[in-house]
Amino acid sequence: MTAQEDDAPSRLTNEAANAPGSAEPFWKRLTLEEMSTSEWESLCDGCARCCLNKLEDWDTGEIVWTAIACELLDDDSCRCSDYPNRHVKVPDCIPLDPATVRSITWLPPTCGYRLIAEGRDLYWWHPLVSGDPETVHEAGISVSGRTVSEADIPVEEYEDFVVMWPGEDPGAD
Ligand code: SF4
Ligand code: SF4
Repeated sequence: MTAQEDDAPSRLTNEAANAPGSAEPFWKRLTLEEMSTSEWESLCDGCARCCLNKLEDWDTGEIVWTAIACELLDDDSCRCSDYPNRHVKVPDCIPLDPATVRSITWLPPTCGYRLIAEGRDLYWWHPLVSGDPETVHEAGISVSGRTVSEADIPVEEYEDFVVMWPGEDPGAD
C-alpha cells in the first residue's frame, strides 16, 4: 500500500511547496482533507515501508513488521512495479485517503501521512523538505536494499523475517 504515482508529477519540490504569498508550506497550513490531489500525493516520501508484510498476533492484536515485501515492489527504487493495476493484482493493497490514514494503526511512524495526521512536521529527509527524492534512501528510512520478495518466501517462514526497524522513528530521537 502506498500513495505513490509512477506517471504523475506527484512530488512537489520544496520551491513549489509554498503557495505565493504564503509563509508556510501546505502541509503546515492544510489538513489532510484540504489538500489537493498533487499535494496529497507528494506527502508520500517513497519509503515503501507500507509495502512490507506484517504479522498480527491473533491473541493480542499486536502487529509486527517483516522484511518481506509485496511481490510488486522494486526493492531498489522502492516503487510499485505495476501501480495502475495494483488493486487487481494485490487486493489487500489499501488505497490511502484521509479517513484511512486516521483509522489504521500500523502506518510507520515516519510516514508523511501519519506525521501530518498527528500534527507533526515532516522530517528533513522528506523530498518536500529536502527537494531531493534520494534523501529518503540516504537517511536509511526507505526499505531500499533491505527486503526479500514474498514471491520467494513461504508463509510458514514469515516469522523468520520479523524486523523492528520499520516501526522505528529515528527522527524522534
Ligand atoms: S501493490 Fe504492493 S508494491 Fe504496489 S503499492 Fe501496493 S503494496 Fe506497494
Ligand atoms: S509509509 Fe507512508 S510515506 Fe512511506 S511509502 Fe507508505 S504511504 Fe508513502
